[in-house]
Amino acid sequence: MEYLPFKGLTERLFKLNFKLDQQLVESKAIIDKIKAKYDPRAEFNRWRESLEGKSWKEKQYKNQKGCCAICKQLIPLKGSHIDHIKPLASYPDLALDTRNMQITCPDCNISKGNK
Ligand SMILES: [Zn+2]
Repeated sequence: MEYLPFKGLTERLFKLNFKLDQQLVESKAIIDKIKAKYDPRAEFNRWRESLEGKSWKEKQYKNQKGCCAICKQLIPLKGSHIDHIKPLASYPDLALDTRNMQITCPDCNISKGNK
């Protein structure tokens, strides 16, 4: 015989547990979406492809007189990289701060990224 106050408790707990599991899955999906949106690398890539990003790069290229900021070699605008002076991984807040950006040749940017 089941004691009256606990009647159906197992079933209720089971249903509750199932609901919680479902909500956990939904929450995880939402968290993933938020992370993708606020991922500084993705945010920077979006900015770089935007009109604002492209015009900044052209202006900065002229300011640097067409030279890589690191090795100082003349480089073509097309194929040049936007480098974060303070690396994005350590300074995500500066992802879109143009004061933290310079134009480099791909070699300099990649070798810096590997350090
Ligand atoms: Zn260079």
